[in-house]
Amino acid sequence: MNPRIPLVDLAAAHAEIAEEVAAGFAEVLAATAFVGGPAVGAFEREFAAFGGVAHCVGVANGTDAVELALRAVGVGPGDEVIVPVNTFAATAEAVARTGAAPVFVDCDRDTCLIDVPAALAAIRPATKAVIPVHLYGQLAPVEELQAGLAGSAVRIVEDAAQCQGATRKDRTPGSGPGAIAATSFYPGKNLGAYGDAGAVLTDDEELARTVRTLASHGGLVKYAHDIVGVNSRLDTLQAVVLRAKLRRLPEWNAARRAAAAYYDKLLADVEDVTTPTVLPGNEHVWHLYTVQVPARDAVLADLEAEGVGAGIHYPVPLHRTGAFATAASFPVAEHIAAHTLSLPLHPHLTRDQQERVAAALARALSAHRRPL
Ligand SMILES: *Cc1c(COP(=O)(O)O)cnc(C)c1O
Repeated sequence: MNPRIPLVDLAAAHAEIAEEVAAGFAEVLAATAFVGGPAVGAFEREFAAFGGVAHCVGVANGTDAVELALRAVGVGPGDEVIVPVNTFAATAEAVARTGAAPVFVDCDRDTCLIDVPAALAAIRPATKAVIPVHLYGQLAPVEELQAGLAGSAVRIVEDAAQCQGATRKDRTPGSGPGAIAATSFYPGKNLGAYGDAGAVLTDDEELARTVRTLASHGGLVKYAHDIVGVNSRLDTLQAVVLRAKLRRLPEWNAARRAAAAYYDKLLADVEDVTTPTVLPGNEHVWHLYTVQVPARDAVLADLEAEGVGAGIHYPVPLHRTGAFATAASFPVAEHIAAHTLSLPLHPHLTRDQQERVAAALARALSAHRRPL
């Protein structure tokens, strides 16, 4: 029996940076600088440069990053924030935690990204912001949202948790006047920590300062609490890990891109598989390689039985969850939730493994093909 092919391989990534991380941890332990310290500031500067923005504010996790970015642009109780229904629950949770209400919209059938015309049509007087989610590793068409919102006070807060290193028409998340983006360094993300971590990215000095103030108990100076804040810090040990991984990220993203291209090729002639659509103008970083297939649950079970660790992102659209249930229906997101399948994809995946995945997928599909 061949060894299992995991959806992500964090051990292979760790093997590349193990020595650097051990040395960095030893320094932090020797200095007993467990909060703050030079590694955090250094990572923030390095990640801002990598992300093409002026400011990066490290926080405790991606959900906090979205919440604090929303609060920085003034979202609060009584407001509405438009959220695509096909996303991880954290996007909507962050809205709810500000006291605002998430208002869901459907997504595009091909890219699974936010349906921009639907988002623009959902704008009401209470709408304070829209969150385009850069799902699976490619950017949503933010410029179309910007054009539709021109002249209005509605803000755009980008959920960039899945797209570290991605660009759209040479623009990066959080860059440009008034723009702000939130990202997550959850271990399985393209840039993942060894625990929770996140960051807010922006070119706007004032917004960066507000996020930093909110994240550090409402003040930038110890014991000066100007506003009611929270404790949301990027952990020092995580900053050590993130600095080591950031140095490899361009190479790792290139490996993901090559693997995605190879899947495209392997699956081109496999019946019943819809491979992912890249929006023209996007440089994709393939956080996930998601296909759409019929009889998805049976196919997933067969893959599992063959040792292929596929996943579903996401099995339940947010309006069908207990937390965010609404009577509204979002047919595209519901269709995607029922048919989407994420194949193993990570920087250390081999061609041989990809060939095994593609062959197992073809077998599973033909086993569950319904006669016409
Ligand atoms: C991972 C993720 C988040 C939040 O991340 P945490 O760090 O787990 O809080 C938010 N939005 C999306 C789309 C994500 O994938």
